[in-house]
Amino acid sequence: MLAETGLTEVAKGVFELRLPIPFEDGLVNVFLFADGEEADLLDCGMNSDESVATIRAAIAHIGAKRLRRLVVTHIHPDHYGAAGSLAGEGMADLYIHRLEVPLVNPRYVELEHLVKEVHRYLLVNGVPASEAEVLSNSQRALSQLVKTAEASVQLDGAELLQMGRRQLRVEWTPGHSPGHICLYDRQDGLLFAGDHMLPELSPNIGLHPQSTPDPLHEYLDGLRRMAALEPELILPSHGRPFTGAPARVKVLEAHHRRRLEQAVEIVGRGKQTAWEVALELWGPRSNFYEKRLALQEALAHLQALAVEDRVTKSVTPDSVRWTPA
Ligand SMILES: [Zn+2]
Ligand SMILES: [Zn+2]
Repeated sequence: MLAETGLTEVAKGVFELRLPIPFEDGLVNVFLFADGEEADLLDCGMNSDESVATIRAAIAHIGAKRLRRLVVTHIHPDHYGAAGSLAGEGMADLYIHRLEVPLVNPRYVELEHLVKEVHRYLLVNGVPASEAEVLSNSQRALSQLVKTAEASVQLDGAELLQMGRRQLRVEWTPGHSPGHICLYDRQDGLLFAGDHMLPELSPNIGLHPQSTPDPLHEYLDGLRRMAALEPELILPSHGRPFTGAPARVKVLEAHHRRRLEQAVEIVGRGKQTAWEVALELWGPRSNFYEKRLALQEALAHLQALAVEDRVTKSVTPDSVRWTPA
C-alpha cells in the first residue's frame, strides 16, 4: 500500500502523495496533513476514479476517517481537478485564493465565451487564422480532467491556516496563476511551493485573457519574497523536495533575464507580433498546448519589457504590435 501510493512522510505528520497526470513530468505531488481522525489536503490531482481512490486510500492509511479541508494552490487541472469529488456539501471545505475563483467557471464549465476570447487574443497577437482555430479549442480537453467545487473560504493571502497539527501561513505568489498560493510553516521552515518554485522546471508565466496584466514582474517579486523566508526545505508540486531557495531563485531570475534580453533583440530585428517572437524564442512547436504556452510566455516577457519602457506596445482592435522603444 505504501509503495502503491508512493506515500512518504516528508515531515512529522505531513505525507507526500504522488498522483499521475497526463502532462508535465507525469506526476503531481499533493500533501496530506494528519490530525487524529481528521486530515487536511493541499492540492488534489486531476479528477479520475483512480486518482481519487488513491487519495482516499492514503487518508485511511494515515489513520484518518474524514477529510476536513482541501486547500488548493491554484486551479490548474493537476492541482484542482478532483476538488468536486472531495469538497462541497457533506465533504471537505475548499480553501482557495479569491483571484482563482472567477477563473473556474469560464475555464471548466461555460467554456464558449473564453474559447471565443482566446481565439481573438490569438489573432491579434499574430497567430495565423488556421492555427488560431485549433489552438483556441485546446482548452476543451483539459476541462475533462476537472470536477469543480464551490469555495468555502476565499483567501486573500497572509492567513494562518491549521493544516493537520501545523500552522501554515498563506503566501500569495501570483504569476503562474493570478491567485497562486504557497503555504509556509514558519516553525519548521517548510515551504509548500506549489508550481511557484520547482527544482528543475521553470513554471510557465503567461500573459493571456485570464492572467493578471504583468505576471512576470509579479512572479519574480514573489520568488524574491519566498527566498527571503530562507526555508529549510521546499516541497514543490513537481519534482523532489529540495533546499537552497535563494540559489534556485537566482537561477530562475537569470533564466527570465536572458529571455527578456532575447526578446529585446528579436523585436530589434523587426519582429512585431508576439507569435513571431515566440517562434524565434522556442522554435516551431508540434504540440498545440505547448504552442499556446510559448505564446503566453513570450507575451509575459514583452509586457514586462513594455512596463520597463524597453519596448513599445501599440494596440488597435485588430492587432498588438511590439517595436523598439
Ligand atoms: Zn500550474
Ligand atoms: Zn502543476
